[in-house]
Amino acid sequence: MGEFDLIARYFKRPAKRAVLGVGDDCALLQPAEGMQLAISTDMLVEGRHFFPDVDPFTLGHKALAVNLSDLAACGAQPLAFTLALAMPRADEAWLAAFSRGMFALADTHDCELVGGDTTQGPLNICITVFGEVPRGQALLRSGAQVGDDIYASGTLGEARLALDALREHAPLPDELLTLARTRLEQPTPRVALGMALRGIATAAIDVSDGLLGDLGHVLEASGVGASIDTSIAIHLIAASAQITRAEKLFSYEKMLGYVLAGGDDYELAFTAPPSARQAVQEAAQQARTPVTRIGQIEVAPGIRLHDAQGQVLPKRYASFDHFA
Ligand code: ADP
Ligand code: MG
Repeated sequence: MGEFDLIARYFKRPAKRAVLGVGDDCALLQPAEGMQLAISTDMLVEGRHFFPDVDPFTLGHKALAVNLSDLAACGAQPLAFTLALAMPRADEAWLAAFSRGMFALADTHDCELVGGDTTQGPLNICITVFGEVPRGQALLRSGAQVGDDIYASGTLGEARLALDALREHAPLPDELLTLARTRLEQPTPRVALGMALRGIATAAIDVSDGLLGDLGHVLEASGVGASIDTSIAIHLIAASAQITRAEKLFSYEKMLGYVLAGGDDYELAFTAPPSARQAVQEAAQQARTPVTRIGQIEVAPGIRLHDAQGQVLPKRYASFDHFA
């Protein structure tokens, strides 16, 4: 199968929202009046970001999901994306499953594939997404204010737990592995939440490298510090109760490590003033995405972890960014 047949068969669909989609030298997009374009690129490389034998359907989902997650962090509405794909050979079964996984997620966000590039080479998937956001309303990393609350959406830590289990570094019973593995392979980009937080959140980021590391980017960009209540944060790993009760497989410290520094979560971490607590809860409800208040923005730089009694945790807990 030639390159153009392959594109026509697996990637070309009639343009809906775009002025011009796949097939010409450029795609044409027309952002709505008063909107700014939000653009982000993420690349997935075999061996680095996914196992060579990963299910191509979930890979198609994830390649787009990690990009949509960046739009979510900015409060942007997805519009379109491009796909640059290098693969060793044209494997039709693989292409069919990959494109189904990718388009299934694309369709739920009404986000269309408008172009790309296809070449032979080691498997490498690079997607660029385009979204739109009302002028001046994009959520940025730089807006956190001293006194703001810090929130995390959804759950954290399960993707890394699954990764450890798959690498046989962590024993997991089957039903927990299935739960955790879905989080690793088919993350849910929090697009509706990001949009609902426009005008409410003062800063936001999506959690791809781990909560502490990514929150650190917000703190640096905003010139502030933070404290996190670990007695609340520990509950962000949804599997933890089941694991500790039924299996006693992992220490508290290990579970906290998954939450704070696991990575690959694609949840949102964001800040908002205490006066906006009601508005944040309403946004969460509207987006059908739970959010948890886990800490506070402070003047002193860096992140301090403390327990329910306000007792500061030993230094070793604060070095979870080296969790490897
Ligand atoms: P060019 O000669 O400009 O590089 P190509 O021959 O690479 O164009 O691609 C032909 C058309 O197919 C273009 O519209 C391009 O955007 C689209 N295309 C190529 N690869 C992909 C892909 N993987 N997914 C979607 N569209 C693609
Ligand atoms: Mg080309």
